[in-house]
Amino acid sequence: MTGIVFDIKRYAVHDGPGIRTTVFLKGCPLRCWWCHNPESFSVEILQVPRSVLLDGKTIETTETIGKEMEVKELMEEILKDTMYYEESGGGVTFSGGEPLMQTDFVQAAIRACKEAGLHVAIDTSGVASREQFERIVDDADLFLYDIKHLNDQKHQKYTGVSNRLVLDNLAFLLDQKKEVIIRYPVVPGINDEEQQLLALEELLKRYGHQLPELHLLPYHAIARGKYERFKLPYKMNGTEALSKEEVLPYQNRFTKLGLKVKIGG
Ligand code: SF4
Repeated sequence: MTGIVFDIKRYAVHDGPGIRTTVFLKGCPLRCWWCHNPESFSVEILQVPRSVLLDGKTIETTETIGKEMEVKELMEEILKDTMYYEESGGGVTFSGGEPLMQTDFVQAAIRACKEAGLHVAIDTSGVASREQFERIVDDADLFLYDIKHLNDQKHQKYTGVSNRLVLDNLAFLLDQKKEVIIRYPVVPGINDEEQQLLALEELLKRYGHQLPELHLLPYHAIARGKYERFKLPYKMNGTEALSKEEVLPYQNRFTKLGLKVKIGG
């Protein structure tokens, strides 16, 4: 069983509890305007032109984005840090893109992690079929679950897809008594208006103690250059990055609901 991986981040500390290895899988059904991983959009391996400055000379080369990996090969990489997982209460996080775009591979990889006794988190957009979630729900320990916009029309405008599946699958995971942490990217001018924050409050209150933790992810503009390289339109021109201080009022607001609120993952 093989999958297409575009990055493996060791010693990750923002993608779930403890020290983790985060596996980034290619392919995503969304096209969020603010996405900082546009190289993950397509599930295909990409060859992208790249200029490298060497001894004052510019050399034109090609960068390969994505690597086909066997589950066994991936596990060899993951298991290098078992000691760190054990000491920190960490584990493995599957991210993307949308990891469920490669459900067969993710399912097999999660099973292998569980057989090795590792904690597994899935960082998901929620945009996948119920059947895809059913295939991994029992083996995954934690879902880092993105809510991007609660107004469906705006969700479609800014991500390219409806939020219907996102909300349905959230209800399903909570019904299965899974541990879920909501992740909310705070994007100026897109989902930071009062009406939207109230809608998020309502959602969090509706599920009460089942959603005890919220991660607020401030918009940053570091991916702008990637869009140029991949010849993709960057729709966030003119939007300034948010500092941690600017997100503090949101943190205070949601903390008052009794939630543990982190800025960043
Ligand atoms: S869901 Fe994540 S990876 Fe996919 S487009 Fe949106 S921000 Fe990018």
